[in-house]
This record gives sequence, C-alpha cells and structure tokens, in this order.
Amino acid sequence: MHGIIDNLVNELTRLPGIGRKTAQRLAFFILSMPDAEALSIAEAIHKVKEKARFCSHCFNITENEVCEICSDDSRDRSRLCVVEEPSNILVIERVKSFHCLYHVLLGALSPIDGITPDRLKIRELVDRVRNNSVQEVVIATNPNTKGEITAQYIKEVLSPLGVKVTRIAYGLPMGSDIEFADEVTLSKALEGRREI
Ligand SMILES: [Zn+2]
Repeated sequence: MHGIIDNLVNELTRLPGIGRKTAQRLAFFILSMPDAEALSIAEAIHKVKEKARFCSHCFNITENEVCEICSDDSRDRSRLCVVEEPSNILVIERVKSFHCLYHVLLGALSPIDGITPDRLKIRELVDRVRNNSVQEVVIATNPNTKGEITAQYIKEVLSPLGVKVTRIAYGLPMGSDIEFADEVTLSKALEGRREI
C-alpha cells in the first residue's frame, strides 16, 4: 500500500475499537471525501488538543479556566457528584433532576497498576469539600472493583469532615461501566443512593 495511506491507517488504529480493517476502510473513505470535509475532521482534532483543558474546580473538560457546569449559578451547590472520567458527567447530566456540581477523579484506584490516591484528584476533592458548603458527596464511580475501592477510600478520607457520603445504588450490573447506563436506570440509581 502507498506510504501516506499506510501512515493514515496506522494512525487510525490508535483509536479504541479500530482494528486494521476498519482503519483501512476509514482511510479510503477519508481519501474519497471532499477536501474541506476531511480537513474539518483534522482541524476539529487539532482544536480539541489545543484548546481543551481541565476545569480548575472540578477537572471536567473545558475551554476556559472554569467549566460551564461550575459557572452555572442555578445548580445545587450543596451536592457534589464524584465521577471517574469527564465523559461520565454527560451520562449523569441526562438525569435532569440531579442538577448538581461534579468532581472528576481522572481515574479510579488500582494499586496493581500503580494508580494510587496521589495519582487521582482526591486531595483536590477533600479541599473542595472542606472549603465549600458541600453537604453531600454522591459517589458515582463505576460499579466494578476499582470503582468500589475508590468509593471506600473516598469515604475514609472524607469522614473526618463530617460530610454525608452516599454511593449511588446501582441497579446496573456489577462489573459494568456507568457509560452504558440508560437514563431510567441511572435516575433510579441516583434516587436510591445510600449513605456509606
Ligand atoms: Zn468545573
């Protein structure tokens, strides 16, 4: 295959779920696209890498110092929902009644993989709870082993602060990922959260 096409195929296989065959199909599709459309994909990737940063409060992705959610005055500031990844916020946001603030950990504890508490945004969470009028921390880490260990650890570090810590009641299958929860399941999981 031609060098430059081969190069594009190689680059596309870096993406999750894209095997060599799919990458080849995408590469030839891109080749057949009008220049403006193909370049607009490249430009969107470039822009997101150039402009996207973490919110200085919650570690959501934003273009600004503080994200849209943290800047939204209509939100319930007494409640902080803790999630593993910025993409999890989009999932919880589908449950409209839960108009809260978030805290993104940027991962989950996994000592085997070297993911210790200092690698996550846990100290920042403790500071936020200490310095703001947070009354409840709702832990919405994934319902799998890492997510559970993380929830328990957060409960421990927050307990001296006397804040209420709840864990969402997953009707979700154990070992799964919050990303795959539908809106009704998630709404029930949030309603049925329990103090831990
Ligand atoms: Zn934010």
